[in-house]
Amino acid sequence: MSDSFVLVINSGSSSLKFAVIDSQSGEAVLSGLGECFGLADARMSWKFNGQKSEIAVEGEENHHKLAIGKLVGLTEELGLASNIVAIGHRIVHGGEKFTKTVRIDEAVTAEIEKLADLAPLHNPAGAIGIRAAIEAFPALPQFAVFDTAFHQTMPEKAFTGAIASELYSEYGIRRYGFHGTSHYFVSREAAKMLNKPVEESSFISVHLGNGASVCAISNGNSVDTSMGFTPLSGLMMGTRCGDLDPGIIEFLMKKGWSQEKVFETLNKKSGFLGVSGITSDARGVLEAMEDGHEGAKLAFEVFTYRVAKYIGSYLIPLDHLDAVIFTGGIGENSLPIRREIMRNLKLLGFVEDEKGNEAARFGAAGIIGNSELLGAVALVVPTNEEFVIAQQSVELL
Ligand code: ADP
Repeated sequence: MSDSFVLVINSGSSSLKFAVIDSQSGEAVLSGLGECFGLADARMSWKFNGQKSEIAVEGEENHHKLAIGKLVGLTEELGLASNIVAIGHRIVHGGEKFTKTVRIDEAVTAEIEKLADLAPLHNPAGAIGIRAAIEAFPALPQFAVFDTAFHQTMPEKAFTGAIASELYSEYGIRRYGFHGTSHYFVSREAAKMLNKPVEESSFISVHLGNGASVCAISNGNSVDTSMGFTPLSGLMMGTRCGDLDPGIIEFLMKKGWSQEKVFETLNKKSGFLGVSGITSDARGVLEAMEDGHEGAKLAFEVFTYRVAKYIGSYLIPLDHLDAVIFTGGIGENSLPIRREIMRNLKLLGFVEDEKGNEAARFGAAGIIGNSELLGAVALVVPTNEEFVIAQQSVELL
């Protein structure tokens, strides 16, 4: 254990995730969640030394502010405060302005607020978290780590939509991509596992969690990614539809669906939940499939087929392939989903390593398959976004 800890804050519209991370080992010394903000039962729970605790966040005032205020007392009570050297905030949208992690000052906070136009649910919450943390911890330097920043290396042909160019010049409509911290982390870890300098590596990183995205990474840089202007595009997800014919939106609206109903359906009632008809959770889908549920089987097939199609197409921006990297809750744990994706990649020569696929679960990294044709392997690499936030904050200090 080192003596420099970073308090990592991930502020959502009605929630706040926090963790105190050892900036050298990446271990979460303390981790917790504030939820139901804005409601009468707002509460905060945390885990420290294997023990769980929970308190109510009482008061009419801004619950983010109240919760971060309580964090000050908590870190002191647990004896962590004197080792916390910085605060790192996870911020969803950095637009074209933020291409890497930055130290926070008033101008940065104002810019994050301005980008609310692009991320109306997330950026305002991020800025509220920043302002509350500055008030609660005035002596600590604070840093912003952006989900979009890693993808700012994408070439113009990858981020430009095939639409009228004024939509970009006037409104900033283009592909931004998300999950950047995760794709960054697993590509660095994969390079270490393969004993390759990351500057000479070539990966397709596949983050499969509730949200899911694929990223082509050439010489350490993102060159294309499946999420776009919003996190709705690309792969099928827990409740999001992924790629969809935009004509469907017009069709439904002509049928009398409101804009809210259409987007609620595409964001919250699609994906695993929509196709299976039972759950957004991959584990639940797999269990139901074993019991013979037809909708669950179809959801499994659509999901794995679409991931494989993306992997195939993401060979295009690369000049060779060292590895396909699986990560995220599904990618790190689900043997049958990884198996089916590799089966779908048979023409690219991928063959499953059954023992490896069984072993690489529940936090274990490893090789789960390979392709002689491409000279590549399939890897599982557990992601650790908090660690990246802690590391980059300390590096900038
Ligand atoms: P988030 O995007 O919210 O961070 P996670 O990365 O935690 O989500 O991934 C959540 C998904 O991982 C859920 O669909 C869950 O069912 C799936 N998952 C977790 N463990 C397993 C497992 N053992 N087998 C299959 N899926 C799993």
